[in-house]
Amino acid sequence: MVYDILFYIDTHGHKIKGSIVYLIDFYVYCILGGKHTLNHRFSNNGVVLKEYNGVELLQFNKFLKYNNITHCFTTRNGGVSKSEYQSLNMAFNKSDDRKNVEENYKRVAKSIDIDIKNMVFSNQVHDSKIRVVNEDDRGKGIIRESDIIGFDGLVTNVKNVALVTFYADCVPVFLFDPVKTVISLVHSGWRGTVKNISVEAVKLMKEEYGSIESNIEVIIGPSIGRCCFEVEDDALKEFEKNAYWSELLYNKDGIKWKVDLQSLIIKSLIYQGLRDENIFNCKICTKCNKDMFFSHRGHKGKTGTLAAIMQIN
Ligand SMILES: [Zn+2]
Repeated sequence: MVYDILFYIDTHGHKIKGSIVYLIDFYVYCILGGKHTLNHRFSNNGVVLKEYNGVELLQFNKFLKYNNITHCFTTRNGGVSKSEYQSLNMAFNKSDDRKNVEENYKRVAKSIDIDIKNMVFSNQVHDSKIRVVNEDDRGKGIIRESDIIGFDGLVTNVKNVALVTFYADCVPVFLFDPVKTVISLVHSGWRGTVKNISVEAVKLMKEEYGSIESNIEVIIGPSIGRCCFEVEDDALKEFEKNAYWSELLYNKDGIKWKVDLQSLIIKSLIYQGLRDENIFNCKICTKCNKDMFFSHRGHKGKTGTLAAIMQIN
């Protein structure tokens, strides 16, 4: 199964980018005076491509409706990095030129009107620990040394603290409690997914800020899809430990399996008490769309890094 990328013009006038199917949709859209007719064929029609001075970012309608938060997921387009990092590489910990990465950050920050000095980086180790951050953490990882080590997720309820987490196939999970105004970003690779890191984020939102599960809204961002994510038997055994996931593990040829990480995460969140209708899965596979996203598997490890960013304004 291959996931298409589909973008459409939203009320903010973001540009069109998509498949031939979209162009037909757009044509019909015009004839009918502005009604999208084919959106129901796609589950990812809540995705918006934001372009600003050549920088291309994804945003999600589910969160765009809230004026008090800013969010985005970067693509690989619009930066200055070269070769395998071309062009919007967001990782300082690879062999990319630091000045190029800094310029990439400046461009992304300007695109979404966030101050770089507000950014707080995670430092990811494929575990399930989430760090509570606040105004004292601003700038850690980008303009000053960070003591945030070994955390795959960040959470805050403080304004102007921009959470930043990193990806190249792993699953970005954006969480927002609009009632308590709490945000969290989670890096859920397969190990983090097995350890239920997204559920850990929910638990922390609850303990630290009094969030209620049924109020929390979630975006599952671009990441390797079940179309492309094969695992060996030993990894599969880890997934099988969670009984309610069994129906979501896909057998290809008896040796390798295809795993639907996004659906596993969603199932765990619903099991935890989140509402199905509060979770949006964008269903964009980074490997299938490696011209647009850095993909660890798609580029055989030689690739840059994407970032998820979210801030309370
Ligand atoms: Zn794929």
